[in-house]
Amino acid sequence: MTQTLLLLPGDGIGPEVTAEVRRVAAALTPDLTIEERDFGGRSYDLHGAPITDEAVAAALASDAVLMGAVGGPKWAGVERLKRPEMGLLRLRKEMDVYANLRPALCFDALADASSLKREVVAGLDIMIVRELTGGVYFGEPRGVETLSDGQKRGFDTQVYTTSEIERVSRVAFELARGRRNKVTSAEKSNVMESGLLWREVVTDLHRREYADVELEHMLADNAAMQLVRRPSQFDVLLTDNLFGDILSDAAAQLTGSLGMLPSAALGAAGKPGLYEPIHGSAPDIAGQGLANPLAAILSFEMALRWSLGRAGEADRLFAAVEAALAAGARTRDIGGGLTTAQMGDAVLAAL
Ligand code: ATP
Ligand code: MG
Repeated sequence: MTQTLLLLPGDGIGPEVTAEVRRVAAALTPDLTIEERDFGGRSYDLHGAPITDEAVAAALASDAVLMGAVGGPKWAGVERLKRPEMGLLRLRKEMDVYANLRPALCFDALADASSLKREVVAGLDIMIVRELTGGVYFGEPRGVETLSDGQKRGFDTQVYTTSEIERVSRVAFELARGRRNKVTSAEKSNVMESGLLWREVVTDLHRREYADVELEHMLADNAAMQLVRRPSQFDVLLTDNLFGDILSDAAAQLTGSLGMLPSAALGAAGKPGLYEPIHGSAPDIAGQGLANPLAAILSFEMALRWSLGRAGEADRLFAAVEAALAAGARTRDIGGGLTTAQMGDAVLAAL
């Protein structure tokens, strides 16, 4: 049975970096069917919505979805519910991808930071597992109300259920078994009821099914401090939607390579995952052939591994990226002069 990858190139540098994924896929997995749909601002311009019902249906019918990036200044004035980013929120919700995998990896070839003009942490290899479809970003009630004295009151609600915590924790424990066998769970159980429940559920699941994995609990503020102080202590870092948003961006910076980091969002087994570079649409460099396509190419690598059951091809692709970097291939963001397509060429040559 043929497998289908749905590409959603999106806006800004999205189409440029996903074009390189197409070339890599043609060489590495010629039997994989690739489909494409409009997404984000482009979809709004053409169809009046940041994602169409038909594109959502195509995503749900696919084996994996790979997007480029959405948004940009052009759509800043669009009404809130039709903004490009809302297309992504809808897609995540409809695909029910609750576990966000964000590797923070410092590539050996880039560990000498002199060419990057910033500090990086050599050898860094953390997998952050962030809960993606619950918590304070979705909890009800929420809103802004006007009080009798004319003041306004804005409020959000952090909510987690046992099953929401358990299913994302399971992903973290499973990943740890294939890595260095350690999970650090970060919450604020000292001051939040939902944080207390989080700690209880993780502890209970660990005791019942994953006692072979080392489990450590850490308050989220301490986790932020430890991430900067001694990042090598982390293997898998499990956390909720809000803390994960912040901790994963901080961890990404430690690698010095925004243009190189992929991410995956996974749902139930057998359902398609959603893969995307962690960078945005980078309007400042869009259309100039300057974008580093490695984050998108490594997002494809994650799709091969976690949704398409092609670990062998994923290993080959990862090795090709490492080889291209070792041979000196560099786009501007990592201190070189290659164009987007030339970086694609370097990966294809290594393949
Ligand atoms: P978003 O809100 O969509 O996440 P952002 O404002 O956080 O976007 P990005 O779009 O990721 O930021 O861009 C941040 C900076 O990093 C910009 O200067 C951009 O040019 C640069 N950048 C982002 N992605 C890449 C890439 N793939 N290659 C090179 N530079 C990149
Ligand atoms: Mg951003």
